[in-house]
Amino acid sequence: MNKLEGLFNRFMSAKHEVQNLAAIVQNDGATTTNEEVKQWDLRFQEHVTEMQSLHNDVLKHYAEQNDEKIKQRRQTKIIRNRIKCNRCGQIIESVSRHDFKTCKCGSVSVDGGKDYLRRSFKEKGDYEDLSETVGVSS
Ligand SMILES: [Zn+2]
Repeated sequence: MNKLEGLFNRFMSAKHEVQNLAAIVQNDGATTTNEEVKQWDLRFQEHVTEMQSLHNDVLKHYAEQNDEKIKQRRQTKIIRNRIKCNRCGQIIESVSRHDFKTCKCGSVSVDGGKDYLRRSFKEKGDYEDLSETVGVSS
């Protein structure tokens, strides 16, 4: 996740620069020499190129992550999909793909049955995972 955060921060700072440059050119156009406008335009173009390359990096990062997740899913067989809520103590289990269960205090939920392990929670640490899985050699 850190790599993605880094990409996102660079993307946002490039975006900020582009907005600043666009504002300068628009507001100050009447007193700006053509040479200065050209310099700003060059910087603008550099940032646009940087944003495009960051955009591609982010897409690539997602694609790699997805492939990795899918490989892991294929190599894992779910025997039991269940968690224990650390707030109310209830154990909830999802027994089939669309069997969405929420604990009695409403803090955590499970879903996915034996197809995938989906959890929703308000804070990390709200539940203890009691699922059972076995590795499948591919
Ligand atoms: Zn609960």
